[in-house]
Amino acid sequence: MTHYDTLGITADADTSAVREAYKRRALETHPDRAAGDSRAFLELARAYACLRDATSRKAYDASLASRRARPLADVIDVDEMTIETIALGAVAGVSGVDAVNAGLGGVDAYRRECRCGDAYEIPVGELQSLRRTHDECVLECGGCSLRIGVRLSPLGVGEDATVLSA
Ligand SMILES: [Zn+2]
Repeated sequence: MTHYDTLGITADADTSAVREAYKRRALETHPDRAAGDSRAFLELARAYACLRDATSRKAYDASLASRRARPLADVIDVDEMTIETIALGAVAGVSGVDAVNAGLGGVDAYRRECRCGDAYEIPVGELQSLRRTHDECVLECGGCSLRIGVRLSPLGVGEDATVLSA
């Protein structure tokens, strides 16, 4: 499901059509209404936040085109990934555990093993910020040319207030 599907418009809709579609659907899905649904409303808000801005819409269109051009090895949900600490020292050529022990520090990242034995990884903070404007992100394996798609729920779904205010 793309942001265009969420808004019920075609990919060539102009800015005013995007705004009109958002207003109409926002009324239908608003959580205060009897038939409202907060998840649908959050997804709608995210789609609109992405498509209303020319720069982010252009980047989104490019990511859709690249998904079509190079098929993904798999599409998974974020909760199918594990959270692990990746050592920052790895960048400096110091291996994982040693770098953490050496006090170089690490960053928490979502990780999914690739069938080549290497892994797809994205720092937790980076993924959380993608959730504001993206319904999916594409990760590249660190060891081969495979890519996977990760479905992102809108920020606010299944999160507590501390994450929302971050
Ligand atoms: Zn791989």
